[in-house]
Amino acid sequence: MKLNTYFLESEKLKFSKKQVSEISDVIEEHATIAGNIFGLKLLNFTVYPTKKVIRETGESGFTESSDFIRLGIDPDRTDKSVKNVVPSTIYHEICHAARQRKLDFSRTLLDAVISEGLATAFEEKMFPRFVAPWGIYSKLEIDKLLKIFDGHRTDRSYNYFEWFQGMGKLPRWLGYKVGAYLIRTIKNPDFAKLTIMPSDKVYSLVNR
Ligand SMILES: [Zn+2]
Repeated sequence: MKLNTYFLESEKLKFSKKQVSEISDVIEEHATIAGNIFGLKLLNFTVYPTKKVIRETGESGFTESSDFIRLGIDPDRTDKSVKNVVPSTIYHEICHAARQRKLDFSRTLLDAVISEGLATAFEEKMFPRFVAPWGIYSKLEIDKLLKIFDGHRTDRSYNYFEWFQGMGKLPRWLGYKVGAYLIRTIKNPDFAKLTIMPSDKVYSLVNR
């Protein structure tokens, strides 16, 4: 797989040379592993120093397309984030990139829940040292969330930010938690196969 990593400049924040080298190494190591699992040919990463990150982790990721992933990293928190969280984010986002080669990421709520569930379960499998807070729930909580989800499974006009980021009335990370739960009920999940499978087919393998 061909891998390109670009560090974007910011007027306000800057990574040190040491940080650039550490981040590059982590991307190369984990993107190569994940890219090979999914048979990717090309991946471009941009890394941007920013304070607009997930408050629990000090970084965040976004998959722009099947060969382009953006990472945002807080330069003041790399001591913990680069080794302990960024690898997990790389696995999560590469799972999205692989899925977006052929499938619509989030046309229906089910599509988005399956996409995020696969990415969350994949990062958990590949980098278990980091326990993603968007994948943790009690039995009572997940039963409640599943009930909310069930009434909207085929919705196309849902608000992604409300269902996944908690920007609205719904509990934060609802879509991630439901997705992670659904994928975890699949026995011996083969992520290379599930990631290129339409979401209704993945859902038919779920053992709720
Ligand atoms: Zn995601």
